[in-house]
Formats: sequence, structure tokens, C-alpha cells
Amino acid sequence: MHIYECFKLLQQNWQAGSEVIANYDFPGRSQEDLPFAKGDILVIVRPTTDPYWFMARNRNRKEGMIPANYVQERTVVQLQAMPWFHGKIKREEAENLLKPYQDGLFLIRESGNYPGDYTLCVCHQNKVEHYHILYKENRLTIDDESYFRNLTELVEHYTKDADGLCTNLVDPIKKAGTSFGTVSVQDFQSGGWVIPPGELKRMETIGRGAFGEVFKGMYKGQVVAVKQLKDNNRAEQTFLTEASVMTSLRHPNLVQLIGVTLEGGICLVTEFMARGSLVEYLRSRGRSVITKKDQINFATDTCSAMDYLESKNLVHRDLAARNVLVNDNGMSKVSDFGLAKHDNFSQEGVKFPIKWTAPEALRENKFTSKSDMWSFGILLWEIYSFGRVPYPRIPLADVVMHVEKGYRMEAPEGCPPDIYSIMKDSWDIDPLKRPTFNTVIATLNNLRSLTV
Ligand code: ADP
Ligand code: MG
Repeated sequence: MHIYECFKLLQQNWQAGSEVIANYDFPGRSQEDLPFAKGDILVIVRPTTDPYWFMARNRNRKEGMIPANYVQERTVVQLQAMPWFHGKIKREEAENLLKPYQDGLFLIRESGNYPGDYTLCVCHQNKVEHYHILYKENRLTIDDESYFRNLTELVEHYTKDADGLCTNLVDPIKKAGTSFGTVSVQDFQSGGWVIPPGELKRMETIGRGAFGEVFKGMYKGQVVAVKQLKDNNRAEQTFLTEASVMTSLRHPNLVQLIGVTLEGGICLVTEFMARGSLVEYLRSRGRSVITKKDQINFATDTCSAMDYLESKNLVHRDLAARNVLVNDNGMSKVSDFGLAKHDNFSQEGVKFPIKWTAPEALRENKFTSKSDMWSFGILLWEIYSFGRVPYPRIPLADVVMHVEKGYRMEAPEGCPPDIYSIMKDSWDIDPLKRPTFNTVIATLNNLRSLTV
């Protein structure tokens, strides 16, 4: 890297409220400094007259000066269209895909010899050249001269100019079935989401999910939940997609992503929700423990998270009491963004939970905030029936038919009429006639203030 580039890198224009993560320990040199340790998350308070120093705040709300070159901004990890990325395929497989070796035809795969690195395979004069893409201090490089933040930037660069390669990149070999974008482990590195090895202490198992086990853990003095991806490379993209969606979300009623760990399998580290899933909580405590106030609080908490998602045009697709978690203070938070997608993305071949999914979503794969609203109505029913399974007495295979014919569940015993009327509105067969989360949250807040 040229000296000039180093200086360019150093001069950051971080705004107040930006989050940065420490890459090194900083003991502090004077009273005004804010000492921190590698891996600490700090919030920028304001720039200073010195472009290399910022006023920042730590987790304990202590403020002080920090040197910009010790930290890195934490940014949202976005799905990128990387049709040329083929993941872990072997050298021979890559060469087969590239036949008949037209000049400039290329793909990128994960390096077999160097885990964490990549290989660029390009055709030139009836041969395939394999270039080792090195991952070095948060940057990618082939020649130690040009550096890139991610594979997309690298591909753009070598498409414009061969810049030392045998040829410039012309046409990608596209991987099937990645139309909605992919995300790579390296994007989490450059986004500042990776928890350094050894920083996370693992404790007992607390649950089991579709991807693998969930552990309790300890990270920087905070109790956390650690969701591990079991050895299953096929699920990796889904798992990373869930994590990437979470990097863009910040709301008191959404389970917060703290970071990811990459050694010994990928783990997603989130805030710890001591009382577990809402459905289990409702079932195990029941009528004798859970009050009207608790119920309206669960309803308002989840609705407020959904109002936030709706405002970001994000569709959850799997809203249900099993995917809401409860913390030590009895606050509930929406989790499980495994299926969350931006509006208009359709995904074929995924099985949906029938009893929670809106008719048009089941029929035509039309997932919108309005289909989330349908699921929210079912979630309300779960809350007010203390965790019963919806549509009791109707066999699963018959539910869709009954619903299409106009059948709707009755109000659970003791359910306030105002709540049941939200349920009915959310189960309108016409998605456009269902309310928005924004209107429902107003109604619920009002009801909450009247509930003792
Ligand atoms: P899946 O990917 O299959 O949906 P979940 O995220 O629902 O997996 O996790 C499975 C179980 O692990 C949950 O039902 C819950 O009991 C437990 N769990 C998950 N996340 C947390 C958390 N942040 N805090 C406490 N327990 C959790
Ligand atoms: Mg779940």
C-alpha cells in the first residue's frame, strides 16, 4: 500500500452515533483519553479539530478521546449480487465449469489450500489460470499492490483492466440459484462484526435450532447467546444471510446481533434472552402467572418491532410466538430473521408454517408486511390463549381450505374485544384491507395505557 493511501485511510468522517470496533488495545495516554481493549464497541460522539482523533463513548457511557487508526467503523453487511461466486468447489470442478475456456471467462471459489482466502479462476489461451486472492488485514489482494474491501470491488477492478493478470475479466460463469444475492464471511470482517478468537466464553447448551445448537456464553462481561452453525456448508448462505440482515437492524424489541465468530464453525452471537421463547413462556406459566398487563406488553413489544421492520420494507415471513424471545425483565423481542427478506423477493421451494402464513403468501408466494400482519394476528391469538396451537381441532391439511372459505378462529377465552378486533382485521382475505403495523401500534399503546 502506498503511504498516500495510508493517510487517506486514516482520515475518517465518522458521524455522531456511528459505531466503531477496536482493532487494538488502547491504554490511553492522558486524562482526556478513553482507554479501550481490542474488540470493544464504541460510539462516536463527535469529531475533533484533529482529524485523527474522535470523541467517543463506551458501553459504560464514559466519554473520551480515541485515535481513529486504532478502530474501524462497524458497517451494515449487505447482500451482494455475486453470481460469479461458487463457494467451496474444487479446482477440477472450477475447470469443468469454465469449459470451453473462452478468453476472459471467470469465476471465484473459496481457496482449498488457504482457508479464508479465495481463488480467481480465469480462462486465457485455452488454459485456466488460478490466482490466489489473499485476505490480509481486512483487505483482499492478488498482487500486494491493489487492495479491495470485498470481492465485488476486486471483480470490478479486473473487469476494467487486466492490471497484471493474463487478461481482464469478461464474462462470469454464474452460479445457479443465487439471484437474491450472497454474502461472504469476509464481508463480516470488513464490516467490523467479527469477534476475535478467544474473546467468547462458551457455557451450557440452552436450545436447539434448525442450524444447530444454541449456547449460553460470556463476551466482555455480558451474557450472550451463541447460535452455532453445525457442519453443514449448504446452510452457510442462509445462516450468513440471517446475520447480514441483523447487522442493519437496531431496535429495543429486536434481538440484537453482537457479532459473529468464525473459528471452528460460524457462530452468531446475540443478546441473551433469559426466559426463552414466548410460546414456551406462555405455556409454562399459564393463566395463573401471566397477567393482562403482561399480555398487552408482549403484544405491544412485538408490534413495535414489526412497525420498525415495516418502515424498512423488511418482511419477516416467520413471525410466531416461537420466534419471539423474552428477557429477564419480561420484555419480548422478535428474533429469527432466517427468512427475512426485502420486499418483493420471492423464494421458491421453502416450506412455510401453514397456520401462521397468509393465504396469498401460501398460494402465490406473495410475502409483504401485510402477510406479516396476518401472522401477527395469529401471534396475538397465541398470546391470549396462553400458547395454544392455532386452529385447535382442525387437522393441518384442512386449515388452508377452511381459511379460504372464510373460517376464522374465535376469540380466546377472556380476550379483550379490542384485541380480538385487531385479530379479525389482520385476517382479512384482502391484504390491502389489513391494517399497517403503524396503525396497530397506536391502538395497542392506547390499550396498554388503559390496562392495569
Ligand atoms: P432456529 O434457527 O431453528 O429458529 P432459534 O433461533 O429459534 O433457532 O433458537 C432455538 C432455541 O434456542 C430458541 O427456541 C430458544 O429456546 C433458544 N434461543 C435462541 N436464541 C436465544 C437467545 N438470544 N437467548 C436465549 N435463548 C435463545
Ligand atoms: Mg426459531
